Amino acid sequence: MTKDSPMSSVVPVMVPMPAERPYSYAVPDGMRMEPGSIVRVPLGPREVAGIVWDGPGEAVAAKRLRAIAGVFDCPPIPEEMRRFVDWVASYTLSPPGMVARMLLRAPAAFDPEPPTEGLRLVEGMGPDRLTAARERVLEMAADGQAWTKAGLAHAAGVSSSVIEGLRTQGVFETVSIPPRPVVAAPDPAFGRATLTDGQAEAADRLREKAGTDAFSVTLIDGVTGSGKTEVYFEAVAAALERGKQVLILIPEIALTQAFLERFHDRFGAKPAEWHSDLAPKKRERVWRQVAEGQLRVVAGARSALFLPFRELGLIVIDEEHDPAYKQEDRVFYNARDMGVVRGHIGGFPVVLASATPSLESRVNANQGRYERIVLSSRFADAALPDLATIDMRKAAPERGGFLSPVLIEEMKKTLARGEQSLLFLNRRGYAPLTLCRVCGHRFQCPDCSSWLVEHRFRRQLVCHHCGYNEPRPEACPECGTLDHLVACGPGVERITEEVDQLFPDARTIMLSSDMMGGVKRLRLELEAIAKGEADIIIGTQLVAKGHNFPGMTLVGVIDADLGLANGDPRAAERTFQLLAQVTGRAGRTGRKSLGLLQTYQPEHPVMRAIVTGDAEAFYERETAERERAGLPPFGRLAGIIVSAATRQEAESHARALRRAAPRADEVDVLGPAEAPLALVAGRHRFRLLVQGTRRADIQGFLRDMIKAGPRPRGSVRVQVDIDPQSFL
Ligand code: ADP
Ligand code: ZN
Repeated sequence: MTKDSPMSSVVPVMVPMPAERPYSYAVPDGMRMEPGSIVRVPLGPREVAGIVWDGPGEAVAAKRLRAIAGVFDCPPIPEEMRRFVDWVASYTLSPPGMVARMLLRAPAAFDPEPPTEGLRLVEGMGPDRLTAARERVLEMAADGQAWTKAGLAHAAGVSSSVIEGLRTQGVFETVSIPPRPVVAAPDPAFGRATLTDGQAEAADRLREKAGTDAFSVTLIDGVTGSGKTEVYFEAVAAALERGKQVLILIPEIALTQAFLERFHDRFGAKPAEWHSDLAPKKRERVWRQVAEGQLRVVAGARSALFLPFRELGLIVIDEEHDPAYKQEDRVFYNARDMGVVRGHIGGFPVVLASATPSLESRVNANQGRYERIVLSSRFADAALPDLATIDMRKAAPERGGFLSPVLIEEMKKTLARGEQSLLFLNRRGYAPLTLCRVCGHRFQCPDCSSWLVEHRFRRQLVCHHCGYNEPRPEACPECGTLDHLVACGPGVERITEEVDQLFPDARTIMLSSDMMGGVKRLRLELEAIAKGEADIIIGTQLVAKGHNFPGMTLVGVIDADLGLANGDPRAAERTFQLLAQVTGRAGRTGRKSLGLLQTYQPEHPVMRAIVTGDAEAFYERETAERERAGLPPFGRLAGIIVSAATRQEAESHARALRRAAPRADEVDVLGPAEAPLALVAGRHRFRLLVQGTRRADIQGFLRDMIKAGPRPRGSVRVQVDIDPQSFL
């Protein structure tokens, strides 16, 4: 790392705007700052918080140069983090100002948290008269610590006027209590688990890596329930022992509260959480304390990657294959890939964990860039579930139903044994399509090219792309016929209805992300399930992730084919990962368990891979196919989405961009074509696909193309998506 150079009187400041480079500002006499300092600067008519960047500021005519308004009392953003921002911006083709903006999301944290007022016993001072209440107070405060007035009153069981009285007599002095850490410090020696031989071997390898200041990537590839978490906790311990901060990325951390408990069991304290459901005050305190180095471990969603760690020494990325790591909003990035980059820039180890690694990570391991550690058996006597397909062409559901008799039979048996069943369907609402039986009218979103999904509980038709909703009418708006609307296809609400008819006495819980009550309610429901307070659970993918439901012995996948249909090159991989993960919810405590996949294509390689348990054959096949097609990770891919208020504007801009593509041997441009989701929230969309060989400088190509193309005018917007996950 370079030594920060002394400041000149003009400095570059990165502002949280779509700025392509830092802007120059003058430093008033006597104002002190260094690269990384967070400063207040005027920008147009406003003032914003920005980060002092590196090097001298760009020359600006003296009369246009504006002065820095103030410097926050905040630890500077470390050099590593600034280089990370530059890197992410350059890789994703985003303005660096927009990446820096992700770092500046907790503005109230730039000022130090004010200390609270506390009271401390003054030595040698006693009250004029001792009452029982006063005695209790003096006893509590005899430890010589600073107490808050309310805290002391509560602990001694007296009213605060008793304490106020003692203060007036000079028995207590007023002191300031510094802000308390959000969580206590973790103790790496607290609750070491007794590891199995296989686990111990893996843990030793990880400890070795996490014990050094060298970049490395290790992939823990272990079946669900093999103890991956226990194993990577040892890497966390090793990093903590070296005085490093640790970041653990977990998809859906807001819903995996059990993880915090497990961490507590191992380290004697919880990690700090970071996700979008955190209360603003808590967010600010976490941000600040991470910057100050008070917080040693953060467990967070992908955005935690942009926290201002000052001594980061390990990143763990759990469920590294999870699509939730991809952000597709403003700055399009994949937190798994950027996490690896962060480790590279910081010169420290990165650990990836998954039962179904991404093809990218498997290939990186095969080619020796990552080390792969395999955990091949479940912990203790927990056996993996028996897995089978149900051929829906042969074992069709009753008319109007969606559950095969085979699945219903198994549910009955499971219920009779007092065990839990999970029915999985990755579709919210009641039915994905509503139509009029008389005239054939289909309910479509007025602003998107998608059908409206019926949510029967809310009595609404809802667009899952833009949120548009309308009450479900009685009559068809087209032909006016009453009571002839039909729901086509199932969502979780409809499956729940079927279950309620089939098993009226069973305790059922339906879980879906759009349930009323939000995250709080979901957490409670998940806890209830883990405690065995439900017999049948019907859920979308949020029940598939990371939960440990001890009583669950049957998992039924309602529509195993659902993810295979779209034209996404990762469709098979994604379906495999999701099915493996959801069936992995069964049998985590040794009881015999079963996973059943309802499918119309039982011979599909994905179904075969799940049923035979031969993941290797599947990975090999997929790898060979990607290699043949030159798709990632064997080639490079980028999407360009051009959107505009009218179809014509979007199309002509996309065509002009296509014409501006430079000549290159190693890169091809496909399209433009109207996007499968041609209209979203009133914007018409066209897509271009840019495909290159592994060696191609695809970013350079895109930059040239965009520069040579027309400037987006009017409502036109151009969004680049490097390594796209979605092709809609
Ligand atoms: P994975 O992350 O691979 O799915 P987990 O780490 O969640 O696996 O472990 C699965 C279950 O087995 C958890 O309940 C965990 O507490 C338990 N477990 C795993 N290894 C051990 C061990 N060495 N000692 C005690 N419990 C263990
Ligand atoms: Zn819509």
